[in-house]
Amino acid sequence: MTTFRVEDPATLEVVAEVPDQGVDEARTAVDRAALAFPEWSLTSPRFRSDVLRRAHELMLRDRDELTTLIARENGKSLADAAAEVGYAAEFFRWFSEEAVRPGGEYGEAPAGGVRTLVSHRPVGVAALVTPWNFPAAMATRKIAPALAAGCTVVLKPAAETPLTALAVARILAEAGVPDGVVEVVTTTDAAGVVSAWLEDPRVRKVSFTGSTGVGRALLHQAADRVLNASMELGGNAPVVVTEDADLDAAVAGTMIAKFRNGGQACTAANRIYVHSDVAFDFLARLGAEVEKLTVGPAVDGAAIGPVISAAALQRITAAVDLAVREGARISHRAQLPDAPGHFYPPTVLAGVAPDATILREEIFGPVAPVVAWDDEDELVRLVNDSEYGLAAYVFAGELGRAIRLGERIDAGMVGINRGLVSDPSAPFGGVKQSGLGREGARDGLREFQETQYLSVDWP
Ligand code: NAD
Repeated sequence: MTTFRVEDPATLEVVAEVPDQGVDEARTAVDRAALAFPEWSLTSPRFRSDVLRRAHELMLRDRDELTTLIARENGKSLADAAAEVGYAAEFFRWFSEEAVRPGGEYGEAPAGGVRTLVSHRPVGVAALVTPWNFPAAMATRKIAPALAAGCTVVLKPAAETPLTALAVARILAEAGVPDGVVEVVTTTDAAGVVSAWLEDPRVRKVSFTGSTGVGRALLHQAADRVLNASMELGGNAPVVVTEDADLDAAVAGTMIAKFRNGGQACTAANRIYVHSDVAFDFLARLGAEVEKLTVGPAVDGAAIGPVISAAALQRITAAVDLAVREGARISHRAQLPDAPGHFYPPTVLAGVAPDATILREEIFGPVAPVVAWDDEDELVRLVNDSEYGLAAYVFAGELGRAIRLGERIDAGMVGINRGLVSDPSAPFGGVKQSGLGREGARDGLREFQETQYLSVDWP
């Protein structure tokens, strides 16, 4: 069996080698998931609920170990990694509670003579594909609702971070998930493995989290089989700060929205629009916070880790260079560590023009471009002038104004006077090219269910 290496992006050390599986192993994984489906789908909701609840407890039992593992293969700070473990475990708890509420309806047809029984049934074997930026949470956000619904799954984690997915699978086995219900395939041949799944008639669902480009390609493939697809794709989140906002709260919220996970989040603030009356003050306060950020390996207790790869580092460097050529100014920057990893210094860009290239594409790194605005209608036009619509953040003094502004923004999720929208009990997802479907909440369970009704003759 060939293997591939998993590297720590902070030290460039090899953390582990894992099997580099191919199309044959991908098909075997579906064999096993398809074999396990009939029995698993017929377990009681309470049984599945109890298994998920145990998985939640086991993740918390193993919190320290998982935190270190995530920090090593992804590079994020220990604080971010620990927060991710808690967030990831919460999906097991939330869906253990939803598993026993599958819903359904019993009704009488308007003309009489017929009773209608509506139920929500597991869709079948589901193919799950996850990114490297939240290696635990992106996996549990899909596995938990799939298992709660009674589906079995095949999961392909990102090649950068397969170890966390394998650890989650071990926890599920310990929690009592039978063989074949959760199959993880580690590979460097993402296209080959995922295509094999999408072409396989036994696979009835694809749930993908990653970039819009790859999601679009998978949707094309899914169309050939009219395959049920959920897509959590890229974002370009705006932050809006009005002239009457509480600037301390706006700066604190922006720090979270921008620098959590080193800016490598689909919900990360990508463009920060501040009313010109307060832009100078906001910039000074944000800059002071950014200059305080410690950058380095997680084990050293740094607040910000490296970006995921040399390619990511190059892409971010080029995006900032272009922004500067287009007239922006680096107003504040944190210190770079003396370490070999893929580190980019947290950076604030001031004087960014509203049409600057950096505001159009996901930066996916610790760079905060600040744009000044004056007119609210023009601001809304700029904010909505994007092919993405995942998250947005509004900071305003008057709550009614903040909500009205939030409702004018084309985004699936809007943080109102806060910089964090992720919550297992709320429907996570985007509009426009940020995706299709929702994860978390009741909606997340529905993504893994088909609705069926029985039309019963009732003489
Ligand atoms: P990516 O699209 O490169 O990879 C995501 C997954 O798809 C990985 O498992 C990868 O191996 C696999 N993949 C890559 N090419 C493939 C192909 N041709 N066929 C099949 N599978 C393929 O994205 P990434 O760089 O890992 O993650 C960053 C992106 O994910 C960003 O755009 C980010 O916004 C997005 N993201 C979105 C959400 C969300 O919930 N909307 C959450 C996290 C990340």
